[in-house]
Amino acid sequence: MIRSGRPRITAAGATRYHVEIRFQPAHTAPTAMLRTPPGFDPSLTLSLDDDAIAHVFVGDALVQFNDSPGGLPWRFYKGEGLSAARHHAVGIHEGRAHVAVALDDAFHPRMLPSGLRAANLRNWFGVIDDATLSIAMRAVQLLEWDRTHRFCGACGTPTSHMQGERARKCPSCGLTVYPRISPAMMVLVTRGRELLLGRGINFPAGRYSALAGFLEAGETIEDAVIREVREEVGVEVDNLRYFGSQSWPFPNSLMIAFRAEYAGGELRPDPAELADAQWFTPESLPQLPPRMSIARALIDATLAELR
Ligand SMILES: [Zn+2]
Repeated sequence: MIRSGRPRITAAGATRYHVEIRFQPAHTAPTAMLRTPPGFDPSLTLSLDDDAIAHVFVGDALVQFNDSPGGLPWRFYKGEGLSAARHHAVGIHEGRAHVAVALDDAFHPRMLPSGLRAANLRNWFGVIDDATLSIAMRAVQLLEWDRTHRFCGACGTPTSHMQGERARKCPSCGLTVYPRISPAMMVLVTRGRELLLGRGINFPAGRYSALAGFLEAGETIEDAVIREVREEVGVEVDNLRYFGSQSWPFPNSLMIAFRAEYAGGELRPDPAELADAQWFTPESLPQLPPRMSIARALIDATLAELR
């Protein structure tokens, strides 16, 4: 079901933008993107039996069997006697408990038993089944939040886990911290049949994608779309349409994706953010982001309408 609203917002320069937001569930997108599977039940406590799955990380690298990547059984992890710096219950999927494990900070991937290897999550895209990979994407965010909030940011006292909540609390001043989620906007701007795609300065060679950027404090997501497009490429946009969202663990983004229409301005990529940006027709597309990403789902859904 699509819900339409017609809020009017005023951006800097006193230009009035018409912003239409249609809430369209992302699962209707024609391209599959990684997301926690339906039926996954988040949990703070788990009883770990032999069937449990361990998402074991060395830093931000996920440990997997070399010859059969997928869920690493808890019993195997325990049997190897690896030393963990921290554990977190993640949740239950299809009756199996999933637990996040961070190995000691001093542990090096070279120290893994034979038959195992560690690699950044992106390297496991399309190698591990989507359900296991998406739960690992949750697991790494919990571990990273936990690692970086061991001390109170206000007074420096060691923090401790709260009972019954995914939170760490300072016993001295009471500051409570929850897993950090950083909202970011993504937008695919169209001009007739053309798509505006940019090359981030850190992108793999040849790859272009929809524009993206983090929200600033005090902004609405719509403000952020309009500001980021203006800052990154000097273009004004109109007719925003919500597309969907995706948790993206590099390191803790929530990508909130829109389509928008070109409303004026000359394309001038900001060299601090973009190596290039161009208008592309559906017949002359550059290399696109991987199929697991909301960026690709957004581009594919738009192309399906334009073709
Ligand atoms: Zn404190």
